[in-house]
Amino acid sequence: MSAKEMRIIDFHTHVVPPWVIEERESLSTRDACFAMLYSHPTSKLATAEDLLQSMDEAGVSMSVVLNIGWMSHDLCVRTNDYLIESSVKRPGRIIPFCMVQPTDVDLALRELERCAAGGARGIGELRPDIQNYSLADTNLLTPLMTLAADHGMVLLTHVSEPVGHAYPGKGTITPEQPYALAEAFPQVTLVCAHWGGGLPFYYLMPEVRKTLSNVYFDTAATQYLYSPEVFRIVSQLTGEGHVVFGSDFPLIPQQRALNDLWSAPLSEEAQLEVLSASAHRMLANRGGTHHV
Ligand SMILES: [Zn+2]
Repeated sequence: MSAKEMRIIDFHTHVVPPWVIEERESLSTRDACFAMLYSHPTSKLATAEDLLQSMDEAGVSMSVVLNIGWMSHDLCVRTNDYLIESSVKRPGRIIPFCMVQPTDVDLALRELERCAAGGARGIGELRPDIQNYSLADTNLLTPLMTLAADHGMVLLTHVSEPVGHAYPGKGTITPEQPYALAEAFPQVTLVCAHWGGGLPFYYLMPEVRKTLSNVYFDTAATQYLYSPEVFRIVSQLTGEGHVVFGSDFPLIPQQRALNDLWSAPLSEEAQLEVLSASAHRMLANRGGTHHV
């Protein structure tokens, strides 16, 4: 099967509007999340045009474009606009995920509603450690999760390892946080980035396996974190269908991420699941009671 027939989905990419690249220096002094990820002049930033070019070269059919955890509502809104506009210009190729600042619930709810109406299919990449809340804060998150579920929106959160080396952007969202979210809101589909910081290990506990039945793991930035055995071992732990391909473009070039997956110790069938089938199934499930 050719890459095109397979309809490869990259579930973890980041793009920013051109004005963010122009204002890189000033944004680095104004926003803690942007500063953590992009204040270093060599950390890569890409526009939707850059992503499209990369997708064409690598044979990627669709990409989920994620926002970042901006501190201010205003920066969430302005960047959400760009992601939504980009998806409208390239129907079927760019799947926008939006960002809100949950600590201001009313503004966040209004923005989430606006983005859902504009075609956003999810929220992410969540950075509660920077935006000053916890994924375990059920009281704060209930209205947002209810709205997300009503619109069949997927949540994608950054997760990092409680052990191991430090790296820029690692943060402090360790596996117990997404676990608490999955337990409190089983109706919301949750994607844990970067292999969930080790959360898949606990699928060996029967009650955890049950709680995580609506949880997926992306492969973003594998190259910086794990040996290639991670593809086979996590697929085995979680069972079929819970791992989705994500590159973390532009941090990792899509072609490189794909090459690493192709050469991972996985059957061709399992690679197809990770590259395409699981993500398509997840996105096809729009859920919700208000959706028509
Ligand atoms: Zn991340």
